[in-house]
Amino acid sequence: MMAIERVAIVGLGLIGSSIARAIAERLPQVTVTGHDASADVRALAGELGLCDRIADDAAAAVVDADLVILAVPVGRMADAAAAIAPGLKADAIISDVGSSKAGVAKALATALPGHAVIPAHPVAGTENSGPAAGFATLFEGRWCIVTPDVGASQDAVATVTSFWQALGARVETMDAAHHDMVLAVTSHLPHLIAYTIVGTASELEEVTESEVIKYSAGGFRDFTRIAASDPVMWRDVFLANKDAVLATLQRFNEDLTALQQAIRRGDADKLEDWFTRTRAIRRSIIEQGQDDAAPDFGRRH
Ligand code: NAP
Repeated sequence: MMAIERVAIVGLGLIGSSIARAIAERLPQVTVTGHDASADVRALAGELGLCDRIADDAAAAVVDADLVILAVPVGRMADAAAAIAPGLKADAIISDVGSSKAGVAKALATALPGHAVIPAHPVAGTENSGPAAGFATLFEGRWCIVTPDVGASQDAVATVTSFWQALGARVETMDAAHHDMVLAVTSHLPHLIAYTIVGTASELEEVTESEVIKYSAGGFRDFTRIAASDPVMWRDVFLANKDAVLATLQRFNEDLTALQQAIRRGDADKLEDWFTRTRAIRRSIIEQGQDDAAPDFGRRH
């Protein structure tokens, strides 16, 4: 396993800036160089003191990095990889944090032939974006899924694994295609549903938008948190993970139709069985430390 002394982070938004903050807190001996395509973000990252050095140029940011992490939207990974290529050390490990993996892995391998590419996805985030939105504890107790190619260097996989563990994450290794199917269910479909519900509610004719907002505590507002997520990031996720999302959506539509039928037919048992099963899933998430047990997400009343 390689000892990491210098990390370069390309993309200093929510995830990139959280990585920088977590390194400063948990790996203070590691030097961090940051780069972002946006001059405004670079300036803000400088003001916030996120990195030891901020480079205006992607290739210059990675020159002496042992580990480079691409934290840009999934649709920008290929560009970002091409931009860092001229500056990389021969033995640098390149990783990313993209929310979909098979397409990103392919794009990185194509742009960076001969380099150790170890894709990863920290399953942690919020609905906010940008460098000011990040925080050092974002990854604590959360899972980071590493999706190395079959021929990947085991040393490089071990280095990326121990890096994420050092930031407080729990690490699991998975095939990229399987990752994309799992995340289609646990993340991408819920976002699509939230985007749909919030969009639909704002366009209903019988109910005014002000009524939707006023009475949102009935359930609607919990969807609005997810539906407030970054539009560019999520546009790219759906385009990149198209097949897995469409397969999951097909299954969701079938189940929705079954519930629709149960309501129409007055099938009380079907509805109660279904809702009992879903309540158990919520309880398992709390038991496994993936959410707080506080009622109503800990809101003050
Ligand atoms: P973000 O807050 O919007 O930050 C992304 C930053 O990358 C922006 O400042 C953006 O600048 C910059 N950027 C875009 N293209 C670039 C390029 N070619 N080179 C350098 N910088 C570039 O997004 P985020 O939430 O941190 O997401 C970053 C990645 O993490 C995405 O791949 C996402 O799928 C993944 N992820 C997100 C979450 C989450 O909950 N947000 C969780 C896990 C993983 P501009 O704004 O000027 O384009």
